[in-house]
Amino acid sequence: MKLSRATGTRSTRLVAFAVVLQLSMGLLSVAVVDQPDVQRQPAATPSTAPEPRAAGAQRAAPSAAELERAADTERKGQVERLLAARSAAILGRDRTAFLATVDPRAAALQARQAAMFDALAAVPIGTWKYGLTQRSGRAADAALDLRYGRGLWWAPPVTLSYGLAGFDDIPTIDKHHLTFVRRDGRWLLGADDDFDAVGGRTPRALWERGPVAAVRAPGVLALGHEDTSVLRNVASLTSAAIPRVNEVWGEQWGKRVVVIVPSSAQEMASLIDSTQDFSQIAAVATAEVSDASGEDAIERILVNPDTFTKLGQLGRRVVLTHEVTHVAARRVTGPAVPAWLAEGLADYVGYKDVKVPLSVAARNLRKDVRAGRLPTALPTDEAFNGGNPALAQAYEQSWLAVRLLVERYGEAELLAFYRAVGASEGSDSSVVLSTELRDAFGIDDVRLIADWRAALQRQLG
Ligand SMILES: [Zn+2]
Repeated sequence: MKLSRATGTRSTRLVAFAVVLQLSMGLLSVAVVDQPDVQRQPAATPSTAPEPRAAGAQRAAPSAAELERAADTERKGQVERLLAARSAAILGRDRTAFLATVDPRAAALQARQAAMFDALAAVPIGTWKYGLTQRSGRAADAALDLRYGRGLWWAPPVTLSYGLAGFDDIPTIDKHHLTFVRRDGRWLLGADDDFDAVGGRTPRALWERGPVAAVRAPGVLALGHEDTSVLRNVASLTSAAIPRVNEVWGEQWGKRVVVIVPSSAQEMASLIDSTQDFSQIAAVATAEVSDASGEDAIERILVNPDTFTKLGQLGRRVVLTHEVTHVAARRVTGPAVPAWLAEGLADYVGYKDVKVPLSVAARNLRKDVRAGRLPTALPTDEAFNGGNPALAQAYEQSWLAVRLLVERYGEAELLAFYRAVGASEGSDSSVVLSTELRDAFGIDDVRLIADWRAALQRQLG
């Protein structure tokens, strides 16, 4: 599954994992992976050549260029103060001050900004800062000249950097495409959607898509649009998953999880800016990783309400434990980790101590095996694409491969193997895998596949 997100200004990597579910019998299978690299390059800063000035020339009246530069500087200063006032109003929960930064003539924007401010009431905001990233704005635009008046609008690149208190170690940085307008000598926010049609869409967070309810449970912040039984259920199941994950994975991870429950699959896709097919997916885990060290990341689990709510409690438990496993393992899940290993581990933890017979938990694969279609290779990364009609089998195959390794060599050895593959800087995943299989278990991939096929035949045939 490939996800990408065109926001922010730093180079980041977005890792996404999904859980697939088998709707029949209210149970599910698991997983998915993905590691698209999204390079975020700040736009080039146009350079302003210094105005040549003849040496020894007498100071005369300021030139037109100097006057323009002075006006630019004043405008920049005013807009920076406006952005600082907006940031302070959000942090200080001052609704009147916040709305005073918005053009009173922009009625629809006023209403949206008021709704966003109100939606943020439930959100634990740790940091919130709007800022100009560079001096320049968009070039001349006849339509905007017509709308606002020539020289009376400015659209410089703006970033919003924010973090959730108690959960985010580093901020989320979103690039906003705003238009500031001059009204009665003051610069105000005039629009946030003037550039939607030209690739300048401002990302809309959960709080810009309706009211927000927050439910807390130990280690967990669950955000949705309404305080429903589903949101409370997600919060408590996610919280209960943390010690289960610790028991297998250990405690060397943040042990804090933000889980978001949008109102629809469509909203979920929009929040992560993905065009994936989520019809078979119950939840995804994403991590936006700063390329600086890869240590810190903004991690979120997103629940697909369209599919998640069709699961029973046991299925929901498996899904959320699976996703929390991805969050816990994220730091050591390097690019050499194949999807089957990441998903297999998450399923292994998800299903551990869950009393579900293989005939149910691996029912799709069982059907294949019984029909004489024993898989000949472990699932490729592409097999975890949301549109794969055999997605459930890909998860089931991965789960049983990891389970086999645990049964044969031990859980601690499997985890050490995972960490070794994850830490490898080798660029060819299959080479890394062969090396680590040999080091960890003394087998090669041919042997792994032969053993795995024999186990599938024995367990499911
Ligand atoms: Zn997964």
